[in-house]
Amino acid sequence: MRIVMKFGGAIMRDADDILKVAEIVKGYRSKGDEVAVVVSALGGTTDSLVEIMKNIAYAKKARMEKMLDSIASRHLGVTKRIEDPKLAEETEGTVNRLMDDFRNVALGISHIGELTPRSRDFLLSFGERLSAPIVTAFMKQRGVEAKALSGGEAGIMTDDCFGEAEPLINVTNMQLKQNLEPLLKEGITPVITGFIASTQSGVTTTLGRGGSDLTAAVVGHALEADELWFWKDVPGMMTADPLLFSGARVIEKIAFKEAIEMAHFGAMVIHPKALEQGINNELVYRIRNIDDPDGRGTLIVRADDPDDAKKGAVIRGISVIDKVYLINISGARLVGTPRVVARVLELLSNEEVDVLMISQSSSEANVSIAIPEADSGDAMNILELSLLGTSLVREITGEGNYCIVAVVGKGMKGTPGVAANVFKSMADRKINIRTIAQGSSELNISFMISRDDAKVAVEALHRDFRLDEA
Ligand code: ASP
Ligand code: MG
Repeated sequence: MRIVMKFGGAIMRDADDILKVAEIVKGYRSKGDEVAVVVSALGGTTDSLVEIMKNIAYAKKARMEKMLDSIASRHLGVTKRIEDPKLAEETEGTVNRLMDDFRNVALGISHIGELTPRSRDFLLSFGERLSAPIVTAFMKQRGVEAKALSGGEAGIMTDDCFGEAEPLINVTNMQLKQNLEPLLKEGITPVITGFIASTQSGVTTTLGRGGSDLTAAVVGHALEADELWFWKDVPGMMTADPLLFSGARVIEKIAFKEAIEMAHFGAMVIHPKALEQGINNELVYRIRNIDDPDGRGTLIVRADDPDDAKKGAVIRGISVIDKVYLINISGARLVGTPRVVARVLELLSNEEVDVLMISQSSSEANVSIAIPEADSGDAMNILELSLLGTSLVREITGEGNYCIVAVVGKGMKGTPGVAANVFKSMADRKINIRTIAQGSSELNISFMISRDDAKVAVEALHRDFRLDEA
């Protein structure tokens, strides 16, 4: 079987974790499977790089140096666990060289004081540039022939939309095949950096945060793999967050479109962009648990999968976005509403604030927008600064301590009464609903409630919709 395996940062925090990764790959290789690997940066590295970038911009050099040292010593620490002296020396050399490159570019940028999207992507790429050779060395030490490749070296080409680059699928498919097939045929496991790619003229790009999943999907499709496995520290996709409801269980099978909805509403086990790639293809995706490697995990299938036992189920799972902030904008004139909405969305998007939900009433010039609570300060500032005192807007207020609950399932499409039952569940528990939305795809119904009601709401829906029945 040909398998593409993706290992994320959450399961690659230290040397012991990476040893586990090497063991898993070794296991399948010895069974005769062809394995290609896609890796993220070691857990938390990309966040640190983002933090460093902030300090470059504000020219806080001392702080930047300190953070660089800590990234270097973390990676060198892991490298120390490579027993073979030659491999260890080689990998240490690679880590040091990469850190020098990073330092030079970072210092150069901080002298100029201008961080362009292009140089930002270049610096962001170092997390994966560092992790791939380290993982490769651990695999070699376990006797697995392996080769580290950057996304660009592997053949992933994108446009030059830095920070959120789009793969150019035709060239990418061709090149990935050309570069990786010979390795697989020779029994070498390619270890490809997730997240980072290259323009056709060789400039480094990134696919957006969490983009390693997309890399894995692109590689899986190009290589016409039999399966694409996302190794995780959870047993699979769950019917609900087990922290909110202990009776949640693993979803054995879910359709791509449902998984995308779950991901959008907080249960981001796999990046939605990677799931989008799967909708119209034959490739099977599977979520597997690194701590229970023989467990079944979750299988993600096409909507018309003939063996999907729960095909008729109305609801597949419940997702929750926690810590949501509601902004209410009251306009002076109804006619101005579309303009207000357009302007508000533009302002929020410039601040890189995610809009989670919008509701607009028709009787009043009133728009409510839900955003992550963490962004509420920035969002309120920019909206007040730009809109108050203009003829468009009379008042802007904000309220925190909300969450958004989404019930997801393709079975609700065309089934009358689902919404009524969802809201009856809430009413029976005396839970007040603040705003409601239903995606036009009819794959989800989502609503906003107080965070204090989240547990009761999830448990109620889980029971009333019999999600505990396998
Ligand atoms: N390292 C990148 C990030 O943290 C990409 C990924 O992990 O998927 O966003
Ligand atoms: Mg990830």
